[in-house]
Amino acid sequence: MNYVVNEQLETVSHTLFRSLGSGGVYARTALFEQVVEGLSSLISRYREPGTEVLRFPPVINRAQVEKSGYLHSFPHLLGCVSCLQGSESDIRAALEGHNVDQEWVTALSATDLVLAPAACYPLYPLVASRGQIPRGGAKFDVACDCFRHENSHEIGRFQSFRMREYVCIGAPDEVLKFRSEWLGRVDELANVLGIPYRTAAASDPFFGRAGKMMAVSQVEQELKFELLIPLRSQESPTACMSFNYHRDHFGIIWQLRTEAGEVAHTACVAFGIDRLALALFTLHGVDFERWPRHVRDAIAV
Ligand code: AMP
Ligand code: ZN
Repeated sequence: MNYVVNEQLETVSHTLFRSLGSGGVYARTALFEQVVEGLSSLISRYREPGTEVLRFPPVINRAQVEKSGYLHSFPHLLGCVSCLQGSESDIRAALEGHNVDQEWVTALSATDLVLAPAACYPLYPLVASRGQIPRGGAKFDVACDCFRHENSHEIGRFQSFRMREYVCIGAPDEVLKFRSEWLGRVDELANVLGIPYRTAAASDPFFGRAGKMMAVSQVEQELKFELLIPLRSQESPTACMSFNYHRDHFGIIWQLRTEAGEVAHTACVAFGIDRLALALFTLHGVDFERWPRHVRDAIAV
């Protein structure tokens, strides 16, 4: 496939990533990781007191993801962990055919795990199992490696990428306040990082025709905003962060309740760590020593 790729972006990508044989899956160089670490600690400095930190593995219980509605909304993006299951002789049979490369694949069957498509999904059932949400709401700092079966592998659209999120669970006003405070921090964050940006109401890539209507309604209700950075072009900037208000979606599914006994609402602020780092290199260049002094200072670990 051909993409109109900004030359700078291509040079940056060649310097920072090493191909691993599959589109959108890369080894990252020390230079890139240095900036990822710096960004991660900068984000940690924005962590509000009382926020609980949890780091999730790259796999999630399949039933939880099905129940959360992800399968219905984004079946095209979800990856499932499949294994050779059964007795030793069943497994041996799958490996002894004439055409092992294909036969072992047809013999695979789904396990109870899927690859995490976002960092906040495991949080809601976990918090629900603890009982009611205290007054003032509960805040979390979560992260994991994510997988999405993207249909294009243009630079910056990875199949495997890292996501960090701040999440708030509580009464509607508490959750909306959390999201608007984060939207209010964007300008400062962008200045610290020396990046041009804009924010805009956005929609998730819902599946199918019904999904198109869901996307329109999501934009109308301003349930999702994105931080957009002009990596490829001004006209089609890249989403590097999202600010999501789920209303009572997860609260109803997982029976999350506030102290007053109402259904809890949820919101999350997601940082696309790899995209943010890629944005910094694209805008400031691959020679870290020549980045603006204040940006280097901000992401010094
Ligand atoms: P979303 O849940 O789609 O709002 O994703 C949160 C953030 O993760 C986005 O704003 C992006 O920065 C990042 N992200 C989403 N999909 C990808 C991808 N395929 N490759 C790299 N980063 C991504
Ligand atoms: Zn989230």
